[in-house]
Amino acid sequence: MNTALAFEKTFKPESPETIEQPRVLEIGNQFWNKLRAKVGSRIINPRYVDIVFASKNIGISQALHRINLINPISEHEIVIVGIYDTDNGSIHFNIPYEEIDPHDLAEIITHELTHLLQDQEGKYPEMATKKHLNSQGIDNASPWEKEAYNMQASLAGEFLKSCKIL
Ligand SMILES: [Zn+2]
Repeated sequence: MNTALAFEKTFKPESPETIEQPRVLEIGNQFWNKLRAKVGSRIINPRYVDIVFASKNIGISQALHRINLINPISEHEIVIVGIYDTDNGSIHFNIPYEEIDPHDLAEIITHELTHLLQDQEGKYPEMATKKHLNSQGIDNASPWEKEAYNMQASLAGEFLKSCKIL
């Protein structure tokens, strides 16, 4: 793949279109404890999180649409969009599971789990309303995104050791 970008938006269910079969992520305590220590959260390990790949989630379509308006996505480019759903704690990606290599997968899931923790902690009140979009239509400059990109870089190895997709 040429580009791996993680982008997210809180999912608000607007239609019953998501009858997709999720995969289940099992989160190891080693990974979770490091993540929550770094993010500064006391939330206990949920242990199992649903992950929907090739998701038709409306939040993903909206994000892709906006990115494409700001900087049209070429056909040689793969943009990975990830979103998290605060209602049920699930994570969605636009790309099929089989097309994402394990290290990229570890990074993008860690990224979204970081946002779930930030959101549940209420760590960044502006998260829901403010975006700091760059010329590609991606927010990688806000404090919450910087933290999520830091976590994905520093904890992907631990993810691969102590988490698995069942
Ligand atoms: Zn993010």
